[in-house]
Amino acid sequence: MRVAVTGGGGFLGSHLCEALLRRGDSVVCLDNFSTGDPENIAPLLSHPRFTFLHADVSVAVEVTGRVDAVAHLASPASPPDYLRQPLETLMVGSRGTENALELALRDGARFILASTSEIYGDPLVHPQEEGYWGNVNSIGPRSVYDEAKRYAEAVSAAYRRTHGLDVGIARIFNTYGPRMRPHDGRVVSSFITQALTGEPLTIYGDGEQTRSFCYVDDLVRGLLALLDSSEMGPFNLGNPVERTVSELAETVLAMTGSRSEVRHHPLPTDDPVRRRPVITRAQEVLGWQPEIDIVEGLRRTVAHFAAREDGLGASAAA
Ligand code: NAD
Ligand code: UDP
Repeated sequence: MRVAVTGGGGFLGSHLCEALLRRGDSVVCLDNFSTGDPENIAPLLSHPRFTFLHADVSVAVEVTGRVDAVAHLASPASPPDYLRQPLETLMVGSRGTENALELALRDGARFILASTSEIYGDPLVHPQEEGYWGNVNSIGPRSVYDEAKRYAEAVSAAYRRTHGLDVGIARIFNTYGPRMRPHDGRVVSSFITQALTGEPLTIYGDGEQTRSFCYVDDLVRGLLALLDSSEMGPFNLGNPVERTVSELAETVLAMTGSRSEVRHHPLPTDDPVRRRPVITRAQEVLGWQPEIDIVEGLRRTVAHFAAREDGLGASAAA
């Protein structure tokens, strides 16, 4: 297959590009590095089946030659990133998604959308099944991400109904692993960076809010299973083991042997209180489920952060 991956220079996108190349596919990666890092794909640039196009997909998604599939991952994903780029986030979720859909339509290609658990907002139903419609504040600061993704799902579903496009939707829950930016502001990358540099761990609120953390290799297997199917979903892709932010902090401190203290900061506006996916649909239809537990996943992630050649200091900040 020849697969176009938008956002392929980012955290998840670069792992997806690598996995596609590993199994023999060709990859056209499109990115503008607004939140990605050229280092993520530097080792791939010499690969004969890898092409990189520097492009803002909100403006256009132009690929020469036929593609068999489009994986649309371009979008800021970390809350500080999308809060800093509110209009760009809305644009890439709306126009960027339309442009990526048009490329798939041109070639009759499979299209998969990287949607998010954020479409459930601050959920009133727990755990979250795909049938739950969500609880999103449409004008709050997080809405630039949540509503853009909700629109992206809506327009993708409409392309399937209207044009018969082979669309699939993945609702990705918090995913972590090597190549997260140390200073991207997400909780796993923040805690590991802080623990390794002896800075205080920044817990927002009382730390009793929960998330369910999925290791990147598991998530990429899920995306590939969706890509290879002709299922629409949507599919929750995530690890259903839920833990509090305080528990995560304790695990990171224990694993790194860090003596960092813990400091509490105010909870961001509209921060969801709890989040855990029901993954029965992905298990039954895609034959997918996560395999790597948080201890093993964090061990690998900590090892990667500790080995970074550029260090973890402020100079590595985005
Ligand atoms: P990331 O920020 O590392 O990657 C996103 C990539 O998209 C970056 O390389 C960025 O430069 C690129 N991009 C952004 N706007 C662009 C534009 N207009 N044109 C071209 N490229 C653009 O984030 P990630 O964690 O790898 O997330 C990838 C996708 O998965 C996103 O769509 C995100 O919403 C979704 N997702 C991720 C998670 C997670 O926990 N990592 C959870 C839910 C959903
Ligand atoms: N969080 C935290 N300290 C940090 C970063 C995040 O306590 O330094 C909290 C945040 O408020 C949220 C949870 O950790 O409750 C997950 O945050 P993240 O930004 O990783 O993901 P999202 O909010 O998108 O689920």
